[in-house]
Amino acid sequence: MIERNIRKGLLIILSSPSGGGKTSIYKKILEHNPEFLYSVSATTRPKRVGEIDGKSYHFLSVDEFRRQIEEGKFAEWALVYGHYYGTYRSFIDRALAEGKIVLMDIDTQGAKNLIGLYKEAVDIFIIPPSYETLKKRLYKRDTDDRYALKLRLEEALKEINEWPNYKYVVINDSLRKAVKKVEAVITAETLKSSNYPKNYFQKLFVGKEND
Ligand code: 5GP
Repeated sequence: MIERNIRKGLLIILSSPSGGGKTSIYKKILEHNPEFLYSVSATTRPKRVGEIDGKSYHFLSVDEFRRQIEEGKFAEWALVYGHYYGTYRSFIDRALAEGKIVLMDIDTQGAKNLIGLYKEAVDIFIIPPSYETLKKRLYKRDTDDRYALKLRLEEALKEINEWPNYKYVVINDSLRKAVKKVEAVITAETLKSSNYPKNYFQKLFVGKEND
């Protein structure tokens, strides 16, 4: 579990091409750190086997999603692989106000838009160790039809080009090591001096000489 002296909200964005392994990574981190929150996105893509509405995603119709865009409910939204995906603004703002650490799994467009809005968000790109691993992971999952898989592989290769735009890069060659590395980034981010209010330590130490 990551210890914190000061509770300042933190947005941790994990992006990777499909098959990069970020879902397994954030699930392990949530297991290790039950006080962290996960931002459940909305999507119009069909539910996969094992997914739970409200937990994996909020599954919406296209009409409902568009209505929510109009209502300004999303901090960011994007069309990914032909489906809408969006992050709820109210969830993020409430979590930050409560000083929570929030993990988010969003694509490269979404990450860019979110950083524009929340300047202190921390973005981490998870990259598979090789083309062969990426392809194997994508095809092993086999949750989509062949056409969707081909599309995902093509998109994944395009997305990998985005890595230099991220603050951190984690190569996911082993789940255990990748989880450790992402947790190390989160730890470092919680230790930043800028997380503390002005005069925080002065107040703790200065003027106590005669106590
Ligand atoms: P999947 O359908 O495999 O769960 O996710 C497909 C892609 O959509 C992934 O790259 C994932 O990171 C991205 N994604 C999931 N939720 C969001 C979101 O709220 N906003 C954006 N921009 N992308 C998302």
